[in-house]
Amino acid sequence: MPPFDVPEGDPFGPHNLPYGVFTIPGTERRGVGVRLGDHVLDAGAAAHALGSPYASLLAQPDLGPLLAAGRTAWSDVRRALTAWVTVPSHRETVEPLFHPLSSVTLHLPFEVADYVDFYASEHHARNAGRIFRPDAADSLTPNWKHLPIGYHGRSGTVVVSGTDVVRPSGQRKAPADPAPVFGPSVRLDIEAEVGFVVGVGSEPGRPVPLGGFRDHVFGLCLLNDWSARDIQAWEYVPLGPFLGKSFATSLSAWITPLDALEEARVAPPERTHELLPYLDDTEEEPGGYDLRLSVAVNGHVVSEPPFSTMYWTAAQQLAHMTVNGARLRTGDLYGSGTVSGPAERERGSLLELTWNGRDPLELPTGKRTFLQDGDVVTLSAWAPGPDGMRVGLGEVTGRVVPAT
Ligand code: CA
Repeated sequence: MPPFDVPEGDPFGPHNLPYGVFTIPGTERRGVGVRLGDHVLDAGAAAHALGSPYASLLAQPDLGPLLAAGRTAWSDVRRALTAWVTVPSHRETVEPLFHPLSSVTLHLPFEVADYVDFYASEHHARNAGRIFRPDAADSLTPNWKHLPIGYHGRSGTVVVSGTDVVRPSGQRKAPADPAPVFGPSVRLDIEAEVGFVVGVGSEPGRPVPLGGFRDHVFGLCLLNDWSARDIQAWEYVPLGPFLGKSFATSLSAWITPLDALEEARVAPPERTHELLPYLDDTEEEPGGYDLRLSVAVNGHVVSEPPFSTMYWTAAQQLAHMTVNGARLRTGDLYGSGTVSGPAERERGSLLELTWNGRDPLELPTGKRTFLQDGDVVTLSAWAPGPDGMRVGLGEVTGRVVPAT
């Protein structure tokens, strides 16, 4: 079907228009692509063909220049793209610049600057607390309701969806073991998360307030924070995650601009503690997003985590990340933390779904506690859009391959 005739209600219709980077067929060059239905528009070529002033932002090998251009430009480019793919008079010019999605290679859409990962789901934090600290009086740590807990991850190992993930090796030591051993992780897990992409940087010493979120953050994507639970459990005290997570983080190939998610904005869960002023969002516009995630192992859906249940919002995370004066750079990426809802089938990690291996999942491909070599994990999601339509957030997928 020609791309202009994308069916009404397609989750990748003209109301969505996410951005990615692909190898332009017939060339060795990378270019910015915009997804429409099951096609990719060569956005740089379209800009040139139509004499658009935005060619300098779109005729690029990655999203960096567009990310850095700022909110007004983001809205203007989006408005232009919407016209290019919907106004009949553009059809003859634009239609030849589409490529079938199945025929193109997609790449990491931007150079990841700093990578931070948060811990914003109360359900996930309580589950992890019960599993890792069963003797603690409270499953939440005393700071949890006062600040969005996070850590700095490794940007150089962020990979695009479809990249194989090599099982990591490292030290592990169960409490009863006399000494640590070294070898491939035997508790390889996933974390279903949403990633937020920073477009516009900030000045050192100038914290970004809650209201600055949409001036700095361009859009969101899906993120799988692969986690080796055995390595993590032995190494994380007292400085937090390190080698148990830094081997790979997978990102979806499509970045959905925040402008496509207006209808998905919701209020976050009710706050149970008074917040310090820089995090207090009671007077702010709704900071939550109603995103419906799905986790599949070898094609079998095992969980459907609801992002709307996240206690801390992306705006609060950005405010907290910069409140000490740390600056932002174009391409900074921050993960929401594992998305887990209140129900058992809404948990975003195998750690929680199997209760640390106690309750194996029954899959058509066999029982699973943690991941086996060859397993393919796919996270996908959608959000409510205009007129009852869905905004597709694509997927992030990865296959586990044996340790080297
Ligand atoms: Ca995580």
